[in-house]
Amino acid sequence: MSDNIFPYLVIGLAKYLERGMTYPYPDELLFSLNHIFWANKDTFPKTLSGFLKLTNSPLSQWYKLELPQNFDPEAPLTDSNDLSANAQEYLDTLLDETNLPKGASLEDLQLALDNHKFFQLIKRLRAAFPNSPQRVQKEYVLLRRFLIENPITSLEKIEFTFERCQYLQVEEIVDFYDSVERVQHKFAYPDTNGQAKLWSCLNCGPLSPKQNELQSAKSSSCSSTCPRHVGGWLSHEINPQLVVLKRAIHLRALIPGIAELNLFDWLVELMTNNAEFIADVQLYPNVDAYDIYLRFADATVWALDIKDYKDPYQLANQLKGIYNQGDLKYQRGFYVYPAVRNQQHQGYRDIVLENSKRKRKGASIRTDEEFQIEVLKMLESMKG
Ligand SMILES: [Zn+2]
Repeated sequence: MSDNIFPYLVIGLAKYLERGMTYPYPDELLFSLNHIFWANKDTFPKTLSGFLKLTNSPLSQWYKLELPQNFDPEAPLTDSNDLSANAQEYLDTLLDETNLPKGASLEDLQLALDNHKFFQLIKRLRAAFPNSPQRVQKEYVLLRRFLIENPITSLEKIEFTFERCQYLQVEEIVDFYDSVERVQHKFAYPDTNGQAKLWSCLNCGPLSPKQNELQSAKSSSCSSTCPRHVGGWLSHEINPQLVVLKRAIHLRALIPGIAELNLFDWLVELMTNNAEFIADVQLYPNVDAYDIYLRFADATVWALDIKDYKDPYQLANQLKGIYNQGDLKYQRGFYVYPAVRNQQHQGYRDIVLENSKRKRKGASIRTDEEFQIEVLKMLESMKG
């Protein structure tokens, strides 16, 4: 957690200085000061102006919490009542990489920072990929699948799953989760015996009570196919070892991830039964260049990216063409979305097609059902 404080401090300072150092203090500044205070209890200045003076001196002299690796510990945070050049540069990169406006709320900031951590991990694995492609890829898929399939899990299970990894640390996986202690008040809901439990849905992840009823974080991706009445809502006994997937990872990795794994597992089974026609299926190839790589026996390659948005305009906005280089080059690219979206919004497909025309670089738009039919047709044609 402590390495999370620094971005709040820089954003809080930036807001405060921009306002001409007037009251009220930005939430980010108060939040970070609170943490910094507990780390320096005895020596911490009694006033804010005293603290601002500190920020003029090198961080190494007063900042006891963890610093991000890309920040020089000998640099100050401010320079004559302005952000220092180092802090400004750090802030620019952060806002750029998290896609976050500086005015964002604390909650948005939290979401963006958690996302950013995931993004940093992918960046690190991609850098390691050329040295040890198979190992890195194996660990990345292990992680991705684990996050999707274990929205509520235990510290022991995380440790057991990742302790032998070479490129992933147990602590950073734990950091994608909130401790039960921290989120219990948000997630606990009684079972039929009145005992408080945590709940998750097989389709859409952790559930939380709203107006006295359990609800999904993204109910639109579950609404018409919700497995609640067929045993798809699982309860978890509350104990101190329990952890719950953070909201940012839930939205970013788990929600689309269920559809990705379903399609991937379907293709793998198809390959097993048609080994003479399907040569290879890979999940998240080359550390997530796209979602699924599919190679037929005649060397034709298809690439898939699976997207799930309720709003067709949002989906269209996300389509920027699928990576098509090196050993991942393909003949056909597909953006695939869940068929259920067509029923939820009239003209869904037409809106996506119309609004992504120039950006999607020739990729086809299909529902998951249409895509499966297209694969089966391809098999038929190869069988002659
Ligand atoms: Zn659900």
